[in-house]
Amino acid sequence: MPVQQDVVIVGGGPVGACLAALLADSGLSVTLLEARSTDPDDPRRIALSYGSAVLLQKLGAWACIDPCTPIETIHVSQSGGWGRTLLRAEEAGVPALGYVVSYGSCHAALTAAMAQAAGVSLRHGVRAEHVTATADTAEVTVHSEAGSEILHARLAVLADGGQASAATAPRHEHDYRQSAVVADIVTDCAHDGRAYERFCPAGPIALLPSQPGYALVWTTRADHAAQLVQLAPARFLAALQSAFGERAGRFVASGAPALFPLQVRVAAAPTTSRVVLLGNAAQTLHPVAGQGLNLGLRDAAVLAEMIAAQPGTLDDPGLPRRFHTARRADRALTVGITHGLVRTFSNDLAPLRALRGCGLTLLDVLPSAKRAFARHMTFGT
Ligand SMILES: Cc1cc2nc3c(=O)[nH]c(=O)nc-3n(C[C@H](O)[C@H](O)[C@H](O)COP(=O)(O)OP(=O)(O)OC[C@H]3O[C@@H](n4cnc5c(N)ncnc54)[C@H](O)[C@@H]3O)c2cc1C
Repeated sequence: MPVQQDVVIVGGGPVGACLAALLADSGLSVTLLEARSTDPDDPRRIALSYGSAVLLQKLGAWACIDPCTPIETIHVSQSGGWGRTLLRAEEAGVPALGYVVSYGSCHAALTAAMAQAAGVSLRHGVRAEHVTATADTAEVTVHSEAGSEILHARLAVLADGGQASAATAPRHEHDYRQSAVVADIVTDCAHDGRAYERFCPAGPIALLPSQPGYALVWTTRADHAAQLVQLAPARFLAALQSAFGERAGRFVASGAPALFPLQVRVAAAPTTSRVVLLGNAAQTLHPVAGQGLNLGLRDAAVLAEMIAAQPGTLDDPGLPRRFHTARRADRALTVGITHGLVRTFSNDLAPLRALRGCGLTLLDVLPSAKRAFARHMTFGT
């Protein structure tokens, strides 16, 4: 008889590592498979919500994250049009609207939290090739330098960012024809904890306070983004200044820019037992509202709670559907807000510009609407 694990997690990114850390002392046998042999060299800075920070504190991972910068206010505006909204942490009833951390540091802290706990076997350099499920077991076919093998599990969790899971679950996709250019930026003004989201016709530009400078996430047409990353630093800064304006001061220096193509991918409701999708494997979002990882961490927290709630949960063939139902509202609202923002703001139609101006102004003067919006972004639904 093959050895049966309780849970096999495919993908040791931040979401998979978070789930493994949450399950670590549960008495279950958990194997985490990560295709990469070394830690990723990922230049992204990520805005973690206050809710995610609380989860990472609970896991003991928060203290291991390198300097993080609190976001105290978010200034939202559109280029070429009037109207703006200012979201403030105190209005949302939280100490900070979020914290800007490096992807690498967040990932390393979660991996360390998982590795320190008992019960998780972490296997680097092992790629899941194929996942199938029957009513009784999930089978994960893996490949590593040592060759191929089949792992059996009561539950297979796909947290692979959407790569292997594409074959397992049908999904809806939309190509924004936009890419994100990310870079560290230095300005001649202190940021005072303020983040900026400026909607431009080709895509939103976000500046997140990051240590003394900003982390830039500049989304624009894919061909334009490819040109931007080729520019010499001075020309890159001039292009950014012209697109963003001077609200955050003069841009005086930039780190090397990196490119991320963007699309939205949302997996359909599960039809198989024994397989659950988490994080980007379940939904890959546009980074406009900085919600992808926060939503994935909430996925991990809810699944861990469901597994802990009843000893027989892992043998319930209806678990994938029950989990999908439990996550439906939060996922649908977050995907809807994110996609809606991109679609509404990524154009230059004058009537829409005026409507957007009304929307931004209205949101600014309606404290209850602002509070509801900020609290969803912070804690989910
Ligand atoms: C430019 C940009 C900015 C962003 N900013 C924010 C932000 O501010 N806030 C926020 O919340 N989110 C943000 N996001 C989204 C966030 O980065 C993702 O939601 C998050 O990384 C998803 O984590 P994950 O663990 O699900 O997937 P990933 O980070 O993609 O990790 C998946 C892991 O699975 C491994 N893997 C893949 N295939 C296999 C396989 N077959 N077998 C074994 N292992 C496998 C990979 O090597 C990887 O380590 C941003 C995204 C982009 C592109």
